[in-house]
Amino acid sequence: MKNGKSKLVLVAGGAGFLGSHLCDALLSEGAHVVALDNFQTGQKQNLRHLEREPRFDLVDSDIIKPVPSRLRSKKMKFDEIFNLACAASPPHYQADPEHTMLTSVVGTHNLLTLAEDIGARFFLASTSEIYGDPEVHPQTESYWGNVNPTGPRACYDEGKRAAETLTFDFARAERADVRVARIFNTYGPRMRADDGRVVSNVICQALAGDDITIYGDGSQTRSFCYVSDLVDGFMRLMAYKGPFPGAVNLGNPVELTVGDLAQKVLTMTGSSSQIVTRPLPVDDPRRRRPDIALAKQLLGWSPKTSLDVGLRETIAWFADERSGSTKAARAPTMLQGAVAAGQA
Ligand code: UDP
Repeated sequence: MKNGKSKLVLVAGGAGFLGSHLCDALLSEGAHVVALDNFQTGQKQNLRHLEREPRFDLVDSDIIKPVPSRLRSKKMKFDEIFNLACAASPPHYQADPEHTMLTSVVGTHNLLTLAEDIGARFFLASTSEIYGDPEVHPQTESYWGNVNPTGPRACYDEGKRAAETLTFDFARAERADVRVARIFNTYGPRMRADDGRVVSNVICQALAGDDITIYGDGSQTRSFCYVSDLVDGFMRLMAYKGPFPGAVNLGNPVELTVGDLAQKVLTMTGSSSQIVTRPLPVDDPRRRRPDIALAKQLLGWSPKTSLDVGLRETIAWFADERSGSTKAARAPTMLQGAVAAGQA
């Protein structure tokens, strides 16, 4: 709440996995929320439950294009702008690498300029990918990273690095009040079954009784954060009152190998799927674990959900999706909430 009035918040990428959970969290705190999405990887069904929510609206637009004029009207003075808009799974962001790069660079610039114009606080969803295949472990915010600038992951990694550069430059020039989160691997309900990432792949394969695909020998590590913990970190970072703290890692520091993750999912699902190996993708990072000392110190934040609890929730959600029980009345039309009607 600001001066007794609820906040008006723009969530770019609001129909995505993380964006839709963020919209829910903001609405539950009383905010008015406008989600903007081009539906490249975001899905209307993620926001289906908000169709009749008067404090919510959904706008179909790509952040690469100029921000739609209806979002630039006097009544649309956003207090906060979250930029979560970018395909984030390697197969999705590599499908159109040019678009991925421009989403991070041109799209972030468009939203930063809007934030500057209206005095909104700006939040960039950056990524642990900016550390590349890290030579420092665990990764602290002061590490500059080890990214191959010309490989197949570069469109995402370098795009996000450039988005951070732009965001820091706007902060240095005092053109916008900004926050930058470096997000580590995150999982939970509303991941797409075809997302292509290890958690969704392994769970869907185990539930279907299909072969579990492990890339390489499965000894590479990741650290998986449950989505509600991450969104709590987003909210705390955006609300942080001190001077710009630089980029802040948000992730779960519990590290395990991809092979161990697959075994865990096999055990939890009781699946008889077989593990098969596939070639390791080019530039696939060997190890990844966040150092979250800064988030702890600044935000009093650390993840609360254990991998067992989070995986149980996620497996149950995918099982539900498979059974079709949550698929009733899908494909909503565009939402027409009070916010876009100028009643915010
Ligand atoms: N991976 C795997 N099987 C899959 C999908 C991914 O073994 O079906 C591996 C992938 O090569 C990487 C790790 O799991 O080493 C995490 O991949 P993901 O795409 O989930 O995230 P990212 O590589 O972006 O951290």
